[in-house]
Amino acid sequence: MKIVKYPHPALRHKSRPLSMIDNQVRAQAAQMLELMYEAHGLGLAANQVAWPFQLLVMNDLSDPEQRDHELVLINPVILERKGSQEGEEGCLSFPDLFQKVRRAKTVKVQAYNLDGQGIEIDASDLTARIVQHEIDHLHGVLFLDHMGPVGRLSSPGSLRAFEREHRRAQERGELPSDADIEKMLDALEKEQGGSPSPPPPM
Ligand code: ZN
Repeated sequence: MKIVKYPHPALRHKSRPLSMIDNQVRAQAAQMLELMYEAHGLGLAANQVAWPFQLLVMNDLSDPEQRDHELVLINPVILERKGSQEGEEGCLSFPDLFQKVRRAKTVKVQAYNLDGQGIEIDASDLTARIVQHEIDHLHGVLFLDHMGPVGRLSSPGSLRAFEREHRRAQERGELPSDADIEKMLDALEKEQGGSPSPPPPM
């Protein structure tokens, strides 16, 4: 498992809700947390490891010693957004790119935890920013979609560099073609299977 970089097609994939929380899902979450800590990130969504399901992990301190700050959310839904905050944001799929992004200041989120229990959390400030960023990922939305025109103008060079690196990795055979990646994502979704219309989160 590794973190995919923009413009890997998994990042634009709308992830499917998980219909079952089993040991495979728990192992997936544990591996994602390890990867997130290794990369010194605050959060990681399943799309970012090319696993097309609605699971995200986060720790607002990015500190593996502070496990009580860890959060694993499955099939998360934002029930309520309030207020507004603007701040610098980065993304593990866009190394070294930081942009000002406006987000809601507080959010109320409903999700499942790894024990399959429905939970509701109230997040504010940085935690709210991370939750919104990661839930966006699950819907194929990226932080650059929230940048104003000025932000977007200041980053086309780095975006093109990411695109070049993606194509080079494909030419070197280190990465399948975009079409083959799409096929792999579809195959993963079928493999997990479960009910065709998974239950809502609670
Ligand atoms: Zn991100």
